[in-house]
Amino acid sequence: MNYFSTRNKSLKFSFKDIFLRGLAPGGGLFLPNEIKKYNQEELNSLSQLSYNDLATEIIFNFCSDEIKKEELNSLIQKSYSSFKEKEVVNIKKIGNLNLLELYHGPTLAFKDIAMQVIGNMYDYLEVAKDKTVNIVVATSGDTGSAAIAALSNRKNINLFVLHPHNKISNIQRKIMTTIGGANIYNIAIEGSFDDCQKIVKQLFNEDSFRTKINMSGVNSINWARIVCQIVYYFYSFFKLKKNNISFSVPTGNFGDIYAGYVAKKMGLPINKLIVATNKNDILQRVINTGEYKPDTVKATITPSMDIQVASNFERLLYYILDESDSKVGSLMSDLSSKSLFSLEKKEVDKIKKDFEAVKVTDEETISVIDEIYKEHKFIIDPHTATGVGAVKKSFKNLVDVVVLGTAHPFKFSDTIKKVIGKNLDSPEHLKLNMDKKETFDIIGNSNSEVKNYILDKIQ
Ligand SMILES: *Cc1c(COP(=O)(O)O)cnc(C)c1O
Repeated sequence: MNYFSTRNKSLKFSFKDIFLRGLAPGGGLFLPNEIKKYNQEELNSLSQLSYNDLATEIIFNFCSDEIKKEELNSLIQKSYSSFKEKEVVNIKKIGNLNLLELYHGPTLAFKDIAMQVIGNMYDYLEVAKDKTVNIVVATSGDTGSAAIAALSNRKNINLFVLHPHNKISNIQRKIMTTIGGANIYNIAIEGSFDDCQKIVKQLFNEDSFRTKINMSGVNSINWARIVCQIVYYFYSFFKLKKNNISFSVPTGNFGDIYAGYVAKKMGLPINKLIVATNKNDILQRVINTGEYKPDTVKATITPSMDIQVASNFERLLYYILDESDSKVGSLMSDLSSKSLFSLEKKEVDKIKKDFEAVKVTDEETISVIDEIYKEHKFIIDPHTATGVGAVKKSFKNLVDVVVLGTAHPFKFSDTIKKVIGKNLDSPEHLKLNMDKKETFDIIGNSNSEVKNYILDKIQ
């Protein structure tokens, strides 16, 4: 199977290429030229599988040219062996709420599910066999720690993690800056997540720099991450054993929910995908009005969703614009020249067939956490609470919806304490040493400072 760029269909890449590059030349995103569609009989047989076997079947569709199925299966088993849940994820019924707990990996956020597999793929594909690979990643708080847990101390790999200085939770930062080995560099950028992401994209687009450092990326624009996330939509759908299920997804960069869209394309009969946003509601605005216009980033109690440029939305645009790479390219050039683009009504209508989008304010998020705690003595994290809040606000009954639990509440203990008045204990499998010294460097919000930093460290 080949991959192409959303902005140039004539470019062709292998899975290994797109895995290593992350971002297509010229700034587009990679998509596969074929998406397997399962029929009912195939879905029935997939529904009998364990999580690891289901993951093998689904992921294999996208990398079969490069990874043998049996080897993919053992790679997946190895990747999830450190998870607290044997079946990787867990569906919990809390009153009417179907909560899909995705946070039982080593750094307590759903990002571990893809990142652990990606870490092992770097070794399997031997991309760093002869030459050191330098991975540069931007994080709004959770991607960084998941990447560090997956890539720490791997041979011939360095990892540079850019996070927005003072804009992530204390525990997020603590995990990120204490668990890494000698190949890990934490950088606090004096700016927002969008600034961090912009710098990473710029470095990717600078061919000379990218080749010089043999640069690779593991942000959610990396297709391999999305592929790993498709699995839990299938798994939870099968477990609930009913039709007409919708999914509510706390959303930032549009990666996790896009995996749900691909699951639907693969034949899983999902009803609606509900985009839950916080005050940084660019996705809510574009889906309801057609105007995509980044605003300045506002800090909220859901820092992992404090994003205004939702990169993976471009992957949806490609299908909404009738698979026209030139139309995608022209909207993206509008975005860079006019700082916005507009969709036509028929395009918005097309998006609305599959998606709904709801903004949830901090106050609403807090009252969801409070309510669930009072009624059920169960604590959900603020991001997950936006997913619940979005359903309550606009959709319908919680019964037919799966809400993605994207992080463990312990990661946001400060906020939880303010809401329920209680300190949370650290989950046992989190190997966090609170007394360990944090290591990170603070640098200015500029592409050249980051480049100099990286060159300095790797020489
Ligand atoms: C990353 C993250 C999100 C947003 O996911 P996207 O794929 O960027 O939309 C939501 N919640 C938590 C806890 C996260 O870490």
